[in-house]
Amino acid sequence: MKKKYAAMLLLFCFLSPAFAQTPVAIEDELYGYVLGIEGGSSQRRGDFIKDQLKQMGAGYVAVPFSSPSTGKNDTTIITGENIIVRFGHGEKKIIIGAHYDATEGSPGANDNGSGVAVVLGLINHLRSEEWKHTIEICFFDKEEQGCIGSAQYVQKYVLPKSHLAMINLDVEGTGDELYIGPVDFKTDQVFLPIVHEAEQQTGFPSVERSVYPESDYLSFARYHLTNISISVVPKGDGDRLSRMLSSGGKPDSSALPHVLIAMHTPYDRSSLIEPKALKMSYEFTKTLLFLLNSRR
Ligand SMILES: [Zn+2]
Repeated sequence: MKKKYAAMLLLFCFLSPAFAQTPVAIEDELYGYVLGIEGGSSQRRGDFIKDQLKQMGAGYVAVPFSSPSTGKNDTTIITGENIIVRFGHGEKKIIIGAHYDATEGSPGANDNGSGVAVVLGLINHLRSEEWKHTIEICFFDKEEQGCIGSAQYVQKYVLPKSHLAMINLDVEGTGDELYIGPVDFKTDQVFLPIVHEAEQQTGFPSVERSVYPESDYLSFARYHLTNISISVVPKGDGDRLSRMLSSGGKPDSSALPHVLIAMHTPYDRSSLIEPKALKMSYEFTKTLLFLLNSRR
């Protein structure tokens, strides 16, 4: 009898949900990435990304670059490294980008540890899906010094005829409103309806604006390559940001977008990051990616 009870107990243990491994909620997973990447040099941040990719079993290539930068008095060489992950084999390519460097003296949790976190989550959960198109995910370096990493990438890796769209994630960690831009309301008849569909499917509050702060999308826009940038910001910041950008970037103190207060300062820490904001960016980008993938 004792043996029978022991066997029953063992069976119960295997079948009981309490003994099953509880999956980590996506917002906790994403927040964990922010904790891992915040602070440190570009090199350490890059190493963290590579470690995560190795743990996931996701292949990557690290592409070092050096680029001359001409200042007032002299020319310096800026070096860096883009980290690229690819899945899917289609002729057309969808690019998702997030810069991983931070400004000196800032832990860079929101700018842009948050974007990196969302992108790591997308790789972890989506790379085994069936993709009609090639999905190329880029962790760009040296965005804060003039979008150098993304410019290098575009020159070497982007062919206009295979380019479908680039989605840029920069600052995803606070608030409850999506800021989407720069949107060309007059001429964009192809990409914009897909963005609208993603907004409808997710039901997230969002604002679309024709302006967006300087970020890696500019390297694509320079060559008229379809692109969109997504941020998650505190409510009302959509208007504050677009007003600030439309008036040449100088807001009066009462109109300063809340999201900018800690940015590029020592206060851009993970303690200010809201896991639900990361989840919002993840869900929206995932929806947009699936919609884009379903197009020809
Ligand atoms: Zn940034």
